[in-house]
Amino acid sequence: MRLLIMGPQGVGKGTQAALLAEHYGIPAISTGDIFRYNIKNKTPLGLEAMSYTDKGELVPDSLTNTIVKDRLAMDDAKDGWILDGYPRNASQVEALDQMLAELGTPLDAVVALDADHDVLMERMAKRAAEQGRADDTPEAIATRLATYARETAPLLDIYRDRGQLVAIDGVGEIDAIQANIVKALDAKVA
Ligand code: AMP
Repeated sequence: MRLLIMGPQGVGKGTQAALLAEHYGIPAISTGDIFRYNIKNKTPLGLEAMSYTDKGELVPDSLTNTIVKDRLAMDDAKDGWILDGYPRNASQVEALDQMLAELGTPLDAVVALDADHDVLMERMAKRAAEQGRADDTPEAIATRLATYARETAPLLDIYRDRGQLVAIDGVGEIDAIQANIVKALDAKVA
């Protein structure tokens, strides 16, 4: 199973991606997690990414596409994966299309989670209090939501047109949302 999970910050992508990874026995690959790991360990990649992530801006495509390409080439990604937080703009969609063509492994589906603005703001505030992420400042949160609306949300139309979109309501109990996703995916991919 090769999946993307998309949706605005705070919609629960990471939580649902982890559950899907467990369900299908595939790795969940989060570009945000890869950047945070490198920033924490002060690698050259981390030092370069940090100036963007701290402000809630997108890390340049050249850097981001390279880390995804390298990650998808790893052994544990041979039989499937779920990508969380990538692609985030039109040029990343193109880069991913090219990677998949080279690997000869098409996408199975794109899970799109959504929730209304108030729910998202409430969840982000809660996460900021609990996790203290460097990019959970009010300014960075606002930048990320605006970037999502401008650059990432339009990508859903591309995948809808390709017949790959599975749209799921992101409001409710975690387990119930997960069950809805799995039911919709199994119906689609079967
Ligand atoms: P996330 O955990 O997905 O919200 O990602 C945290 C931060 O990492 C984002 O605000 C961006 O600065 C950076 N990032 C993650 N994924 C991407 C991507 N696909 N393209 C560019 N920057 C990204």
